[in-house]
Amino acid sequence: MGIVSEVRALLGAAHVLTGSDTARYGIDTTGRYTAVPLAVVRPGSTAEVSEVMKLAHASNTPVVPVGGNTGLTGATHAPDMLMISLERLDRIREIRPASRLAIVEAGVVLEKLHEAAAEAGLRYPVTFGSRGSCQIGGNLATNAGGSNVLRFGNTRAQCLGLEVVLADGRIVDLMSELHKDNSGYDLRDLFIGSEGTLGIVTAAVLKLVPATRSHATAILGTDDLDAALTLLNEVQEASGGAVEAFEFMPRFYVDQYREMRGDAQLPPAADHEVTVLLELGSASARDAESNGLAEVLEEVLGRALESGLLRDAALAQNEAQRRAMWHLRESAADVILARRPIVDTDVAVPLDRVSTFLDMAGLRVSSIDPQAEVILVSHLGDGNLHYAIWPSREDTALQDELRAVIDDVAVSVRGSFSAEHGVGLTKLGSMERLKDEVALDVMRAVKKALDPENILNPGKLLP
Ligand SMILES: Cc1cc2nc3c(=O)[nH]c(=O)nc-3n(C[C@H](O)[C@H](O)[C@H](O)COP(=O)(O)OP(=O)(O)OC[C@H]3O[C@@H](n4cnc5c(N)ncnc54)[C@H](O)[C@@H]3O)c2cc1C
Repeated sequence: MGIVSEVRALLGAAHVLTGSDTARYGIDTTGRYTAVPLAVVRPGSTAEVSEVMKLAHASNTPVVPVGGNTGLTGATHAPDMLMISLERLDRIREIRPASRLAIVEAGVVLEKLHEAAAEAGLRYPVTFGSRGSCQIGGNLATNAGGSNVLRFGNTRAQCLGLEVVLADGRIVDLMSELHKDNSGYDLRDLFIGSEGTLGIVTAAVLKLVPATRSHATAILGTDDLDAALTLLNEVQEASGGAVEAFEFMPRFYVDQYREMRGDAQLPPAADHEVTVLLELGSASARDAESNGLAEVLEEVLGRALESGLLRDAALAQNEAQRRAMWHLRESAADVILARRPIVDTDVAVPLDRVSTFLDMAGLRVSSIDPQAEVILVSHLGDGNLHYAIWPSREDTALQDELRAVIDDVAVSVRGSFSAEHGVGLTKLGSMERLKDEVALDVMRAVKKALDPENILNPGKLLP
């Protein structure tokens, strides 16, 4: 029997898709990568994932795990490979308020975890635009970040334990519920961010935090990015570190948003060279009763307007206004990916070098393609810039050159070419050029130890 028939016998025909039934898995969210997989299999338990991997291992069949398929680096591209979808492992096994933790399966959609945590009076703080379809397994495999990293850290920071199926089908139980566990090498952290190349995440223990009882959200306008960063530090000091999001949108992005959505959607104060969405959050009942966060913010913003640090500021007065502010920021993927050709990058730079990076990158781009347009949004609070370019023409060599230049400039200011989306296929060139050679050797040794036949997501992450 071939592998597809074997897996059908194991899981039942309904859970093994082939041909046109695989269409929605065979195209990534950017539309850049399309492929027909050998089959898409949908196991319903960790044991079934393990059995599928044993069959794949025995037949040396390449396997690509897939979650919500919202990744932006082509990391689920699977031509003629077996895709393992985790979508049926979608149970929230437990929410334990006393321990502030959730035990979830890999296929749980991020937003479903948000809702379940909220029902228990708690919060899972990782959030970003694709929360309605991305899955916890995909979040862990990419170590996803998002808008609240500044305060809560990325997905790695939320994870206490993991369950992982290895390339040979063995199940590693790392489902620790502990905040301290120094019993040997940290295998959990090795699997987080490994993009499906070292094992298949089937379940996780995740930390929860107290639910937010009040927000203060504002749009800030200034001409100067450094002024915005000065303000961030002032708000952090005044609020005791309550800033949850500090999201930067330059004028060109806002203009493109307005073109797409119409003027009516644009929140007030969003018409400047530098627009920032700032959000503070508090879990304290006292802050909620006294409107304390808004008071702190109003005071700092008042001073900043007076001193000229800021040109404009608008505080959300209700949830609808807050949502409109977030809509402006969270439309980034729709706005930026709407035009082709596109070069989209995902760099991180130290906060005090963001302006330098932008100046250098702008000069390099215009020297290579003077008609190119740069469109970006940024999780500025953690130094992460989604710096995208709309080149003047369809030309693969030009696109590769532009991508390489942006990644090079980021590294030249002590940044990274891969902040939160992972390496996948799109950043393999930069990985080869820019990653420390010894680090690459160690990664290859780890890969060889865990997946000697290279059947797990081959061709991704490691050049
Ligand atoms: C509108 C939009 C906004 C976004 N905003 C952000 C953002 O702010 N921050 C951010 O970090 N990302 C963002 N992303 C990118 C993406 O949503 C995240 O990377 C997300 O974590 C991917 O999850 P997924 O379930 O869709 O994974 P997939 O796309 O299905 O897979 C991504 C990678 O993880 C692997 N994988 C998936 N599931 C498993 C598993 N169970 N075990 C092992 N490997 C697995 C895949 O093989 C692949 O390598 C955004 C995407 C969109 C479309």
